[in-house]
Amino acid sequence: MTLTTKQTHPGRAIVIGGSLGGLFTGILLRSRGWQVDIYERSPHNLSSRGGGIVLQPEILTAFHQAGVAYEAPLGVVARERLYLDQAGEIAQRLAMRQTLTSWNVLYGTMRRHFPTEQYHAGKTLVSVQQDAAHVTAGFDDGTQVSADLLIGADGASSTVRQQLLPSYEPSYAGYVAYRGLVPEADLPPKAAKLLTERFVFYQFPNSHMLQYVIPGEDESLVPGERRFNWVWYVNYDEQTELPALLTDKTGRDRASIPPGMMAPTTEQQMRAYASQVLPPPLQQLVAATQEPFVQPILDLGVPQMAFGRIALVGDAAFIPRPHTAAGVSKGAANAIALADALVSHNHDVPQALHDWEIGQLRLGMHLWRTGQALGDRSQFTHGQQRSGEALTPRS
Ligand SMILES: Cc1cc2nc3c(=O)[nH]c(=O)nc-3n(C[C@H](O)[C@H](O)[C@H](O)COP(=O)(O)OP(=O)(O)OC[C@H]3O[C@@H](n4cnc5c(N)ncnc54)[C@H](O)[C@@H]3O)c2cc1C
Repeated sequence: MTLTTKQTHPGRAIVIGGSLGGLFTGILLRSRGWQVDIYERSPHNLSSRGGGIVLQPEILTAFHQAGVAYEAPLGVVARERLYLDQAGEIAQRLAMRQTLTSWNVLYGTMRRHFPTEQYHAGKTLVSVQQDAAHVTAGFDDGTQVSADLLIGADGASSTVRQQLLPSYEPSYAGYVAYRGLVPEADLPPKAAKLLTERFVFYQFPNSHMLQYVIPGEDESLVPGERRFNWVWYVNYDEQTELPALLTDKTGRDRASIPPGMMAPTTEQQMRAYASQVLPPPLQQLVAATQEPFVQPILDLGVPQMAFGRIALVGDAAFIPRPHTAAGVSKGAANAIALADALVSHNHDVPQALHDWEIGQLRLGMHLWRTGQALGDRSQFTHGQQRSGEALTPRS
């Protein structure tokens, strides 16, 4: 199917991937008059995905520019950072105000703003082709769509990137993030008091853990209805340990293990290790987690983001490690700059993308390198772990 429309707008855009990067691009291009259709592989609503996100300024800038309605502060405000010692006592306290939100708050806020009829779920891109005037996307159901501009916002395993830069793939950084979400009411009062509305860290050799409170699954900011969000970085050898960790409870190999799918042995080992090495309040946090999940930490950087009428944004182009807390805001920054470049080039797509790319490559490289330096220092300062042992996490 090839769609054609009367040109009552500056142009028509196809966005591949309907997660945060795709939605930022979709809402911002629409705000500049573009007709935008988003195509998302998953047939399901994505709103149950993900955990905590630090609310960086670019996210709010994107919302303001796109005219997205939201209720401030859009997250839970933490006023200080605490560094715990092994006994769970406060070793260091820093005044630092930050707003902590959640993936589902950002996703829900943008989905409510973006027209439902132009968000196409269950559509998997398989091919991209372009000529001087158009770009055409082909989907696995045999349909095709043509437009003036195509945005690859299809994440770490981007099909758009595979077609344009086939030799660039994410690489494993040497450690994973165990993650968990705990309803406020489920934590013992003493631990809850220590961890509430604070950004709390525990650093120990070759590992670190952090936690903060985020909105509830229903986006509630009401005290008592929110969730503790934790992330614990643990080193695993790619050849001898990672494959078992990324095998789910049904025996299927996965890129990451979502909530409720961890293999029982892996989960037991993680819980046992937590009770050996974490301070008591963080042990209690892990123990109170019903469905922990696992994400391997990846590195990706590309030398090119603009290809004629095609642009790569978000994790499809650069994956900064999560220590930068900037993955989502980078997607927002990519989209803000793209919308601006189109306007300043009078919606001439190839010229606008060419101009846009320079600053976005610079931003991606900077975050990519910063994340690597931060992560390597925390996880490997004390020497690379020995490899080839059983699937027991170690510090
Ligand atoms: C442990 C951890 C903690 C993090 N914490 C933070 C944080 O605090 N702050 C922050 O800013 N970032 C954080 N990040 C990073 C952040 O989650 C990502 O940078 C961000 O979600 C990337 O968004 P994206 O839309 O580019 O990609 P994705 O979220 O991966 O979305 C890609 C979408 O494309 C779809 N798709 C894929 N292939 C196709 C196809 N062929 N056709 C159609 N659709 C397709 C997928 O289904 C998916 O919905 C963290 C990451 C990790 C691992």
